[in-house]
Amino acid sequence: MNQDLQATDPFLHSLTQAVLSGVSPSREQAIRILTDPDIALLPLLHGAFQVRHRYFGLGVRVHILNNVQNGYCPEDCNYCAQSKNSQAPIEKYTLKSDEEILQGAEKSYQSGAYRYCIVLSGRQPPPARVEHMARLVRQIKESWPVEVCLSAGFLDRDTARKLKEAGLDRYNHNLNTAESHYGSICSTHSYAERVSTLEAARHEGLEICSGIIIGMGETADDIVTVAMKLRELNARSIPVNFYVHVPGSQMGPRNDLTPQRCLRTLALFRFMNPDAEVRAAGGREANLGAMEVLALYPANSLFSEGYLNVGGHGMEKTKKMIEDAGFWVESVEQKD
Ligand code: SF4
Repeated sequence: MNQDLQATDPFLHSLTQAVLSGVSPSREQAIRILTDPDIALLPLLHGAFQVRHRYFGLGVRVHILNNVQNGYCPEDCNYCAQSKNSQAPIEKYTLKSDEEILQGAEKSYQSGAYRYCIVLSGRQPPPARVEHMARLVRQIKESWPVEVCLSAGFLDRDTARKLKEAGLDRYNHNLNTAESHYGSICSTHSYAERVSTLEAARHEGLEICSGIIIGMGETADDIVTVAMKLRELNARSIPVNFYVHVPGSQMGPRNDLTPQRCLRTLALFRFMNPDAEVRAAGGREANLGAMEVLALYPANSLFSEGYLNVGGHGMEKTKKMIEDAGFWVESVEQKD
């Protein structure tokens, strides 16, 4: 940090130095990051960038999602266009063909993606579906040097072990919000069930990817609670999603987010989870607008080519933004 910023913002200077020496921010400090108007955005991002740089340099990991099963979900997550209560006119389909899923992996690798994320709607994969996914994961890992993440609902330890044995790198299951707010977004399953899936995956040696959706009526304290919980769970990957209303979905439009709120939240997750892959995830384009590129200072990962039922920038545009800002796109082949 340059001397001017140190002199004008002693809070940020001491916070950054503490995080770099392994001391996690207190809840009070974390809430200030989100809410204190005297903490200016650019110095905050500069502090978060120092932490990001320590662990990830200037690299950016670009992930590509393949929504291989869309809709028909029995759960009632009210933010989700695929929930049983959603009237959103999405294209519903049961599982895509193996060929389409494998082609998606090849295309992701060829376009420079670091990770291919296979996403299925639904509560929990039945045993035959688990075997099927394990087979596909094995084929992908034997064919292309790309990391593979699967998001398929609740898991127990036996299922997690099968997926790990097939070569799966990472399992995604988002906490989405704090336990105290969970009842406002879903009634068909609990926060505790989500935590136990993450624990099952981690116990079987899968890296866990778990994040949040902000902009659903949560408080600053709720956001901090999720960041702390993900630290406790040792989430290696943290997607920070920014709520986007899909017309027809139950939650309806909201106006909770500003680009400042989104960027402060990314900085908070970086300070709280310094060596985790923090991702500016779903809704970055819609919510950050012209400030989108600033997300690269706290975050070291992005999605490209859109989200589950919301479009996003394509790979070329994403790469150009990364490179124009002086960052570079990381590939699995460059891994140690
Ligand atoms: S978030 Fe997942 S579990 Fe919840 S309704 Fe959507 S697809 Fe179903």
